[in-house]
Amino acid sequence: IDDKGFLRIIPVGGFDPRTLMAQKVVVHGKRDLAGVIGSKPVHLQSEEEKKKQLKVTDYFVDLGLPADKVKRLVSVGDPITWHRDFTELGDCYSSKAFDDRIGVYVMLEALKKVKSKSLQVELYAVATVQEEVGVRGATTSAIGLDPDIGIAIDITLANDVPGAADHEQITRLGEGAAVKIMDSLSISNPRLVKHLKDVAKRNKIKVQDEILPRGGTDAGAIQRAGSKAAVTTISIPTRYGHSTVETIHKRDVAACIDLLAAYILEAGTKSYVL
Ligand SMILES: [Zn+2]
Repeated sequence: IDDKGFLRIIPVGGFDPRTLMAQKVVVHGKRDLAGVIGSKPVHLQSEEEKKKQLKVTDYFVDLGLPADKVKRLVSVGDPITWHRDFTELGDCYSSKAFDDRIGVYVMLEALKKVKSKSLQVELYAVATVQEEVGVRGATTSAIGLDPDIGIAIDITLANDVPGAADHEQITRLGEGAAVKIMDSLSISNPRLVKHLKDVAKRNKIKVQDEILPRGGTDAGAIQRAGSKAAVTTISIPTRYGHSTVETIHKRDVAACIDLLAAYILEAGTKSYVL
């Protein structure tokens, strides 16, 4: 908090600093305060400055309040979140932080579907914290539960947009639930992947293969913190990940729920020992 009442910020998790430009935010101080992210107006930028890529630390939050009031309401360390409403966008939904609210939604909806069914496994549904800063919540959960099977539910990139070649798409929006083969934190158990794809085929659920060269999910933590877990991730294809306009397809969300629910009913019927 500087002498004029502007807030300086550091990131929690990774995102493209350019997505901060001209955003509205909420500062969670003594009470929630509306803020805007300011930067130097284009009129005053030198040619040099126009070319420079800004870092998160180059931005600041303006609360529209005098410094003494800001200092009364805001403390160093108070979290700041993006302000962006949920939008129904054609066949899609667009919002901030679908990563990973949509994962929790998929988990809860799948649980509702299997609520009255008898299962062959002991099932634990975990909404983990701090995935974005080093899969920390999944680490403690996996140590505590030491599961045999771990299915993370997270977003993955749907880079099916102008400018991306076919082989760079990772997944495509509307083409179904993505089953993770690998990312930079985990290599999925191939037998578990095959079982999930078999379940999808038998239940006529659309799935797509996913290999994400950079980025990881809780699956990586479950694999390493537990003693024996076969892991993979059911991923919700998402355009513009880690921005305020993350976009997901209604059909893919439904496919992820259906796949998870159908798999839960079959979990424990196959060995994944390699
Ligand atoms: Zn993420």
